[in-house]
Amino acid sequence: MPSTEPSLVERLLTHIAEIGAGRCSITDAGIEAEADPNAQQIFAGLLMLHEDLQFAQQRQTMLLEDLRGAIRARDEFLSIAGHELRTPITTLVLQIEGLEGVLREKAPAEVFENVSRRLTLTRRQVDRLAALIATLIDVSRINSQRVEVSREPADLVEVLRSAIDRLCDQASRAGSSLRLEAAGPIPGDLDVSRVEQVATNLLTNAIRYGRGKPIIVRASSDDERARFSVEDAGIGIAAADQPRIFEQYERAAPVTNYAGLGLGLWITRHLVEALGGTISLRSELGVGSVFTVELPRFG
Ligand code: ADP
Repeated sequence: MPSTEPSLVERLLTHIAEIGAGRCSITDAGIEAEADPNAQQIFAGLLMLHEDLQFAQQRQTMLLEDLRGAIRARDEFLSIAGHELRTPITTLVLQIEGLEGVLREKAPAEVFENVSRRLTLTRRQVDRLAALIATLIDVSRINSQRVEVSREPADLVEVLRSAIDRLCDQASRAGSSLRLEAAGPIPGDLDVSRVEQVATNLLTNAIRYGRGKPIIVRASSDDERARFSVEDAGIGIAAADQPRIFEQYERAAPVTNYAGLGLGLWITRHLVEALGGTISLRSELGVGSVFTVELPRFG
């Protein structure tokens, strides 16, 4: 009569499946009770394998915890450093503005020219520092999922106009003009500073990669959605690079000609998503780019 006991191979397969699922029913007593010394050796080996796997798994869990802790500490440090750095920058900007005022009112013509040029250069560097610090704060907010949205009644066209006004000098230094096209006001409930930041990021890129050609901002809406696009006739982006440039640290422009961190579009995409919107891109290498942002009008 054939035995109903499972064969050695069947028992082995059962134990291997168990170990694969993170369990093991082999015991030292069980091994000793085995009649076949070869089976004893095999089961002892399997038990050791299970213990090694368990140990490796515990170690992995601990390392993962350490890693998460280190990332939390990094984000906290970035956030604190960013906010602490903002205070002296604000003071510097106020001091520069004060000096510009004194210069305009009191300085003799020969001093005015020279000092005014230096102050303009200083202001530009302080603005760059402020922008880098803002990036630092944004990165830490996005990484720790702390992007807050606060809406208020506002006109999208006004928000875009304000972003354009602040970048006019920068654009003209690069040889580009900035034009706003909108049929009329687009009232809605908007997070004004976030929308302005998104527009500023897209405009800054259009200026940087725009080869000194005109830049056009278009705004439109329907009952539920508000839309704006930033169009340049600059270096453009190859189709293969288009999806990845919205990721962190991804860049497509030649590094020798264009410096950058590869964070602007990543931050922009996260801000737009936090606002409940979408961002899309149409671009052709050597021809130009159009970035389009679509947002819910009333939250
Ligand atoms: P950065 O400009 O600092 O490199 P971004 O995240 O803002 O970082 O942009 C990522 C990349 O996308 C840029 O390096 C550039 O290759 C490409 N890019 C962004 N905007 C434009 C644009 N308007 N025209 C051409 N390329 C662009």
